[in-house]
Amino acid sequence: MFKTLPKDSQVFIDWDWAHIKPYADDLAQRPLSAGSLPDWMKDWSDLNRMLAEIYARLWVATTLSTADPVVKNRFNAFLDGIYTPSLAANQLLKRKLLDSGLQPGGFEVPLRNMRVEAEIYREENLPLLAEDKKLANEYDEIIAAQTVEWEGVEVTTTQLQPVFLSLDRQKREKAWRLTMERKLSDRRKLNDLWGRMMDVRNRIATNAGFTDYRFYRWKELLRFDYTPENCQQFHQAIEQVVVPVARRIYEKRQRQLGVGSLRPWDLNVDPLGRDPLKPYQTITELEEKVSAIFYKVDPQLGDYFEIMRREGLLDLENRKGKAPGAYCSDFDMVMLPFIFENAVGLHSDVATLLHEGGHAFHVFEEAHLPYYHQLPVGMEIAEVASMAMELLASPYLVASEGGFYSEKEAARAQIEHLEEAVLFWPYMAVVDAIQQWAYENHVAACDPDNCDQKWSELWRRYMIGVDWGGLDDQLVTGWQQKPHIFEVPLYYVEYGMASLGAFQVWANALQDQKGAVAAYRRALALGGTATLPKLYEAAGARFAFDAETLQKAVSLAMEQIAQLEKV
Ligand SMILES: [Zn+2]
Repeated sequence: MFKTLPKDSQVFIDWDWAHIKPYADDLAQRPLSAGSLPDWMKDWSDLNRMLAEIYARLWVATTLSTADPVVKNRFNAFLDGIYTPSLAANQLLKRKLLDSGLQPGGFEVPLRNMRVEAEIYREENLPLLAEDKKLANEYDEIIAAQTVEWEGVEVTTTQLQPVFLSLDRQKREKAWRLTMERKLSDRRKLNDLWGRMMDVRNRIATNAGFTDYRFYRWKELLRFDYTPENCQQFHQAIEQVVVPVARRIYEKRQRQLGVGSLRPWDLNVDPLGRDPLKPYQTITELEEKVSAIFYKVDPQLGDYFEIMRREGLLDLENRKGKAPGAYCSDFDMVMLPFIFENAVGLHSDVATLLHEGGHAFHVFEEAHLPYYHQLPVGMEIAEVASMAMELLASPYLVASEGGFYSEKEAARAQIEHLEEAVLFWPYMAVVDAIQQWAYENHVAACDPDNCDQKWSELWRRYMIGVDWGGLDDQLVTGWQQKPHIFEVPLYYVEYGMASLGAFQVWANALQDQKGAVAAYRRALALGGTATLPKLYEAAGARFAFDAETLQKAVSLAMEQIAQLEKV
C-alpha cells in the first residue's frame, strides 16, 4: 500500500499535482477485489477529502480578501494545475469501481449517482459545458455593469437596494424606476445571450441522446425522487393553497401602509414605519447570543457551534475587501465547517447565522461517515437543515431565552420571516414553471418575445396582490432579472421543497421539541447515503408537494402570525 495522506492542511495546502498524482496513480494500478476494497475505498476517499479541503480553503481565502492578488493566483493555480487533472483521474477511478461490480457498504446512493454521471458523460460535451459556464459569466458581467446615478453618485443597482426600505414613498418609486430603466436598456443584450444559451443547452442534450435539455438536466442534477410532473403538481398546489393567502398578506401590507394600491416599490419598507431591529452591538455579542440559542435548541448543537468559535471557523463581520453575501463551506479532511457572512448589526445577520448554522451542523453530524462520497447531499435536504434551524431557533430569539429581543421585537422578526416564507412559494412557482416550459418547448422559447409573454402569464396567475399597472415592459422582462434562469438552469424548485420540509420539522417541534430535534439530527447524520424520501422520513417529514402538505404548512404559518400579532 502507498503512503497514507497527511490529515493536516498545513502539510498539503501547497502541494502541486506532481505531489498528488502518485496517490491517484497508485489507486488506478492497485488490483481491486472484495478483499482489497476497504483499503482502496479509504485511500480514494482520503484523496478526495484532501482535494476538497484544498479547494475549500483556497476558495475561502479568496472571499476573505478579494483584493489580494496572491490569494487569487493561488486559487487559480489550483484550478488549472490540480483541479482539472484531478477530475480526469477521478473519472478513471469511478469507472474502475463501477466496472469491478463491487459495492461498499452504505454506498448504494453514491453508486447510483456515479452510474448516472457515467451515463450522461460525453467527451464532445466538455467544450459545450465550458461554453455554457462562459455564457453564465457573460450574464454576471452584464448585471455587474448596471450602474445608475443616484444623488450625484454612480452606484450599482444593488447598492440602491437600501433606498427601497425608505419611508419616503416617492423616493422609493424614483429609485425603483431608475433601476428598472437601467435594466431595460440591457434587454436586447440579454435576449441575445438567452438565445445562445438555449442553443448550447440543446446541443448538450442532443449529444447525450436526450430529446430535450430538461431530461438531460434532470439526470445531471441527480433528481431521482421526483419528476417534472411532480413539479407541476407542486405549482398547482401552490396556486390553490398559497396564492390566496399571499394575496391576503399583500392586502394587509397595503392597509398598514395606507396606500390605494400596493406597487412594486412598496414591498420592502417596514409597513408600520418602524426603525430596523438592532439586535446586537458587537460581533462577540452576536456569536454569544446565537450560541445561547443553539444550546436551547439542543446542547450538542451548542457544543458544535462553540467548537467553531474556538477553532476560528467563523468570519462574520463585514469588512472592506470581503466578498459579498454569506455561505457555509466545509473542510472535508478534518470534517469541520466554516461560516462566512457580512454582519452589519441587522436582524438579517442573525437569521443568516442561524441558517448557515444549520448547514454547519450537517457537516458535524455526517462526520462519522467513512467515505467522502457519502457526504454530498442534494439541496432538497441541505436546505431543510438550514431552513428548519431558522424555525427551530425562533422561540429563543427573546432575551429571556438567551436571545436578542423584547417579546414585541421577537414577534416582529418572526412575523416577517413567516410572511416571507409564504410569499416565496408563488414566486418559486413562476421561476420553475417558466423554465419547465422553456426546455420543453425549445423552438418557441428561443424567441424571447415568447418568454416575455409566458412570464407575464405566469406572473398574473401566481403573483396576485401587487399592482403593476403601467409597468408592462418591467413586468414581462422579469425573467431576465433572475440569475438562476441564466446561470443554473432548472435549479430553484429545491428551495420550495426544502421550505416545505422545514415547516414539517418545525410543526413536529411545536408538539415535541426534543423528539423533533433528535429526528432532524438523525436525518443530517445520514449524509448522502439515503434517498430523499428516506432522508425526509428520518427528519420526521414527508417528501411531498401536494396541496394537503402545503395547506398544513401555510395554516401553521398563518396561525402563528395571528398569535404573534397579539404580542
Ligand atoms: Zn442555505
